[in-house]
Amino acid sequence: MLDRSTIWPYENGEPGEFYYQRYGNPTVAAAEQTLGELEGGHALLYPSGSGATISLLLTLLESGKTIAVADGAYFGTPTLVRALEPWGLRLVEFDQTGPPPGEADLVWIEAPSNPLLSMPDFEAAAAHPASVVCDSTAATPVYLRPLERGADFVLHSATKFLGGHSDVQLGAVIANAEGDYDRLLEFRTRSGIVAAPDAAWLLSRSLKTLPVRMTLHTENATEVARRLEAHPAVERVRYPGFGGLMSFDVEGGPEAARRVETSTRLIRNATSLGGADSVLETRARWEGDRVPENLVRLSVGLEDVETLWADLEQALEGRSK
Ligand code: PLP
Repeated sequence: MLDRSTIWPYENGEPGEFYYQRYGNPTVAAAEQTLGELEGGHALLYPSGSGATISLLLTLLESGKTIAVADGAYFGTPTLVRALEPWGLRLVEFDQTGPPPGEADLVWIEAPSNPLLSMPDFEAAAAHPASVVCDSTAATPVYLRPLERGADFVLHSATKFLGGHSDVQLGAVIANAEGDYDRLLEFRTRSGIVAAPDAAWLLSRSLKTLPVRMTLHTENATEVARRLEAHPAVERVRYPGFGGLMSFDVEGGPEAARRVETSTRLIRNATSLGGADSVLETRARWEGDRVPENLVRLSVGLEDVETLWADLEQALEGRSK
């Protein structure tokens, strides 16, 4: 049920379970309950993945602390940490396929990373004394439960696969420890960085279909990755074997990659990932030299795979025209 109320009457003169929306509301609580069960922890919803990230950083750290972020992680994460430098937080980047740097006060891994699709070394991260956050946006709990692999927190941009229809912007943190959940909830209530009921209601709707959607994303993406690998116009394909996110490098440099992204007809030239509709874009426009200049990120949707492939193939064949 969608409840948009901002207030609920006191019961016998005292606040009940819900009394003011910023403190908690039933629609957000219901979506958090489902997501918490899926991840095996205590979930909190935020208005975006980035809102979840900043809330987590400000709750856990204070001035003078160092955050080690996986290089190749979603570029907005190190960018946001850098924006917090005036408040005394420091960023170091590291190769997540090995151990995090010793000086880290918080370890930030991403599984798989967007758009380079590397997987973290979970054992090495868990062996580090600092708390570990795993951004599991591209994996979803269907393929990975990071709390079972030693992470202390899972982070999602629920704008992506969890929402799944490119019609809701949301973020989530799932804490393993109840004490951490309490600290996050306290900061969320004080700061007001809290999800709205309409968005939470859309998430509850979407979670019902998450396993079937993820299965089809994987089936389609596996086939597309296989065909891309065999295509002479493709230099390299990155696909972890599950989910709908992949990237590939187009032979012929950035101009050829640009022609590919602008000549698909069904697959839209748009940003983001995780929706039912496939989208693709070159990433150097946003990330500069963090990624190859001919890298195209592709979020494979739920369309018929033969139709998808026909579209990609004609775009690849037209790349040198
Ligand atoms: N984490 C990952 C892996 C992402 O891809 C994104 C967005 O692209 C974010 C976090 C940030 O999420 P949002 O756009 O919901 O703020």
